[in-house]
Amino acid sequence: MTQETGGFAAFNLNPNILAAVIATGYEEPSAIQYQSIPIIMAGQDMIGQAQTGTGKTAAFALPILHCIDPAKREPQALILAPTRELALQVATAFETYAKQMPGVTVVAVYGGAPMGPQLKAIRNGAQIVVATPGRLCDHLRRDEKVLSTVNHLVLDEADEMLKLGFMDDLEVIFKALPATRQTVLFSATLPQSIRAIAERHLRDPQHVKIQTKTQTVTAIEQAHLLVHADQKTSAVLSLLEVEDFDALIMFVRTKQATLDLASALEAKGYKAAALNGDIAQNQRERVIESLKDGRLDIVVATDVAARGLDVPRITHVFNVDMPYDPESYVHRIGRTGRAGREGRALLLVTPRERRMLQVIERVTGQKVAEVRLPDAQAVLDARIKKLTNSLSPLVADAESTHGDLLDRLTADIGCTPRALAAALLRKATNGQALTLAAIEKDRPLVPNNAPRGDRPERTGDRPDRGDRERRAPVPLAEGRARCRTALGARDGIAAKNLLGAILNEGGLAREAIGRIQVRDSFSLVELPEDGLEKLLTKLKDTRVAGKQLKLRRYRED
Ligand code: AMP
Repeated sequence: MTQETGGFAAFNLNPNILAAVIATGYEEPSAIQYQSIPIIMAGQDMIGQAQTGTGKTAAFALPILHCIDPAKREPQALILAPTRELALQVATAFETYAKQMPGVTVVAVYGGAPMGPQLKAIRNGAQIVVATPGRLCDHLRRDEKVLSTVNHLVLDEADEMLKLGFMDDLEVIFKALPATRQTVLFSATLPQSIRAIAERHLRDPQHVKIQTKTQTVTAIEQAHLLVHADQKTSAVLSLLEVEDFDALIMFVRTKQATLDLASALEAKGYKAAALNGDIAQNQRERVIESLKDGRLDIVVATDVAARGLDVPRITHVFNVDMPYDPESYVHRIGRTGRAGREGRALLLVTPRERRMLQVIERVTGQKVAEVRLPDAQAVLDARIKKLTNSLSPLVADAESTHGDLLDRLTADIGCTPRALAAALLRKATNGQALTLAAIEKDRPLVPNNAPRGDRPERTGDRPDRGDRERRAPVPLAEGRARCRTALGARDGIAAKNLLGAILNEGGLAREAIGRIQVRDSFSLVELPEDGLEKLLTKLKDTRVAGKQLKLRRYRED
């Protein structure tokens, strides 16, 4: 057994599940997984207090899969989730972990999509049903026996379900399930309403909560940046331009992510390497030595691989992926600010992870300030500063060593010293963008694409006007119309959510949908002009992230 699978192997999960977990690249269980998996595997009821980002999905999915009998072609586990997005996400997670379990199938049951295929999948023997409460109740009205074989129930994000008004639906669902079932409830908060449900419907539940004792992290300056998951690499590259670092460690969650990010950094000329549990011990030691002596400046690591790493040169820690719990955050950022020096820690936060940020702030007793992506001006200033720093030591004696050559060359070429110096600069900077226009052109990330990017502060009280005014309209392809929804990044929306909703409920082919732009307070989607009104009517009641989509034609004027 290798070191990094030891944590998961100790649970004695079905080997096919363990193999799938290893294939995902997880190195060790998160705190909530350590505590929950044995309880759920033992068939006990449980209340887990955990939010998104802690690894809670695997905390229930792995032990539930372990308890499934693939030979029985009937629903055995029901997972209730507040929104379609979460239901789909949970169903996908189950599929990933069940990849090597032949015969196990998962069905996602949610509103907006036709009921027929969902019912068919259940009748065809899906053992895992992941559902939103409203749509599941519709199924129960058609067939009250549909849940009669379920012996594991999970309520995921129970507090969100209640907030969305699913209380009555939950009661209907509880009644339709066998009384002998196991019930597991996950919730970020435990208000009285949730406790009441637990009292009525759980039997002698075990409580699991990630311990959050206060931690101090004084010497380290902390900041966070809101960003979508698929923009993390670009965000990291932008931040590196302006951060004045000596050595830097970046934390990600999986082995694959260490490799991907390290090679993206290398491609941009950084001296970077990956550090993960798959890398042999002596090679890991070499990486750390190189970081110490400056042959490397950046190491991209998983938590496991970075254990015990102590390199005084480290000035910065980037938490590219959110840690699972505040302790591990404190542990990670403690890699900088060694020996009384100052350190800086940056945390990338996706819209869904904002809650975890609040938990970190509470536990550390410190506000983690928000920073924005550097704009083109900041990048230009940083590049010029680097150039100044690299050239200024050379200026002192260059004239005595190369002055005569300069005279000769300007005479031979017939140009001014300014023209020659400019040509030499062009050569020395090797095509690097060094004007605002050039930087703006090849910026990896348009600042406004970030959930809350580096836009100027709003001046008026009309939130969307500023966005609209600053943006030059992107030309529309022929036959396409631009539509707008008031849902944006601040509602936890990503382009894939909009795409999923429109594909599912609009019945369109993927190619029919053009560019999707998610802004902080609204989003734009390009749809076919032909049949647009019909499509918008079809999407009238569509909800995304629990909110009405209300897509409308958008006029640029
Ligand atoms: P969740 O809190 O369930 O939404 O999970 C957050 C993210 O963490 C998901 O992308 C999971 O794939 C990932 N994840 C869950 N458990 C682990 C683990 N033990 N190691 C690495 N990544 C994990």
